Amino acid sequence: MCVFIDGAWRAGHGDQIVSVDPSTGQRIAEFQGARPEDVAVAAEAATRAFGTWRRLPSTQRAAFLRGFAEGLRRRKDDLVQLQMLNNGKPRIEAEIDVDDAAATFDYYADLAETLDARQDGAVELPDSTLRGRTRFEPVGPVALIVPWNFPMVTTAWKLAPALAVGCTAVLKPSEFTTPAELVYGDIALEIGLPAGVLNILPGAGAVGGAMTAEPRFRKISFTGSNATGRRVMAAAAERSVPVSLELGGKSPIVILDDADVAQAVEIAALGIFFNAGQMCSATSRMILSDRIADDVIAGLRRHVAGMVVAGHQDPRAEMGPLTTAAQRDKVLEYLLRARHDGLDCLTGGASTGPQSGFFVEPTVYLDVPTDHAIWREEIFGPVLAIRRVSSDDEALALANENDFGLAATVVGGARAEDMANHIDAGHVWVNSPQIIFPNTAWGGFKASGIGRELGPWGLAAYSGVKHVTSRA
Ligand code: NAD
Repeated sequence: MCVFIDGAWRAGHGDQIVSVDPSTGQRIAEFQGARPEDVAVAAEAATRAFGTWRRLPSTQRAAFLRGFAEGLRRRKDDLVQLQMLNNGKPRIEAEIDVDDAAATFDYYADLAETLDARQDGAVELPDSTLRGRTRFEPVGPVALIVPWNFPMVTTAWKLAPALAVGCTAVLKPSEFTTPAELVYGDIALEIGLPAGVLNILPGAGAVGGAMTAEPRFRKISFTGSNATGRRVMAAAAERSVPVSLELGGKSPIVILDDADVAQAVEIAALGIFFNAGQMCSATSRMILSDRIADDVIAGLRRHVAGMVVAGHQDPRAEMGPLTTAAQRDKVLEYLLRARHDGLDCLTGGASTGPQSGFFVEPTVYLDVPTDHAIWREEIFGPVLAIRRVSSDDEALALANENDFGLAATVVGGARAEDMANHIDAGHVWVNSPQIIFPNTAWGGFKASGIGRELGPWGLAAYSGVKHVTSRA
């Protein structure tokens, strides 16, 4: 039973959902998901629950969030195994995911503790016979739609703040990574979360489409591709409902001429090969000072030559397979195109590993033309494109000359901070790998999305501001 509505597991009667081990291509689970018609039933349950959940003291909501964090930690070993098996993540990456999801619930539990106390902030009015105050109200039942690259994590980033402010939720996990997401239903039952506060509808795009059309949802929060994001936004526009969109990226890593070469290589490799490059924030465009280019390129070649690309069966695995066959095929199409167009391939450029698994070689192209798809489009795989530049101005112009604006990395000396200030991106790392904490804003400029998650911005995404003026 995988459909969770109104505090109970139900059998699914929708499309067949098949979970696969991407290191072998073998099926690991098969079940029927929700039907599009189930959306109305779940929305009704979420609407009923909203009336009482929003009125619960925020300290009580905080206790439930703490329960989610503890429930995740208690199941960590199983969830790590599941992430390795169903996502193809190396153990260390699977562990980071579970820790991140739990930390997000703890963080929003902390914020929820004081939420009520921070209500009714006084607003000074020019008329002394009147007094003003500000409140933050939950927007209502919300629809949460998430992708497959960081299951549990992208969910936690939405679910924790939504529940903290008093919203109820209907969650649709990705059809490719449903099993790990079902843990939230199990924990909800275990901690006695009131029925209807959280509902889970596994399914593919048709279930997501029904959610975006459901009139009882007061907000849609979506993480996924730009193509689907546009459809979500169009559906929301039909009903004038607000959206948060966390979409794609083609993030730059700028390496200045005074960068430490070893550090630059390490940060660059993590930025594109972590999660086999299936990260919205993957730094897939390297903009490299020509003064140190030869050293960085030689270092990258050595790094890739030493990488262990393998499935979860091999404890030495540093990069696993891509999560789905479709994603592997999409990446291989880009590699074919690069070969056809004669791009200079430093390393990789093909599939690898057991034929049955979805493995792609860590791949680096040099001097990629700026109008080439490898430079411009989100590939969502372990594919790095490099261009050399001769000045900071050239580097900055190239970094910003892209439709996306999700994330960026700068490696270098004192000028790196200034470069970070001028790059159009919602999150920039300076001389640091891509570490994200629950209190740091997440979201994109330009085509990378609308709104911000995490931090206090996460709460704002699910609250409306209310001003009250009263006779003094
Ligand atoms: P996707 O757009 O294919 O699917 C995302 C979710 O939307 C899935 O649950 C899917 O079933 C659902 N969906 C499909 N059609 C729908 C429809 N018509 N209406 C409503 N929902 C629908 O994306 P994906 O392949 O699962 O994920 C990869 C993408 O996600 C990449 O582009 C990546 O950059 C992006 N992403 C962004 C962030 C971020 O924080 N900005 C984080 C992770 C992933």
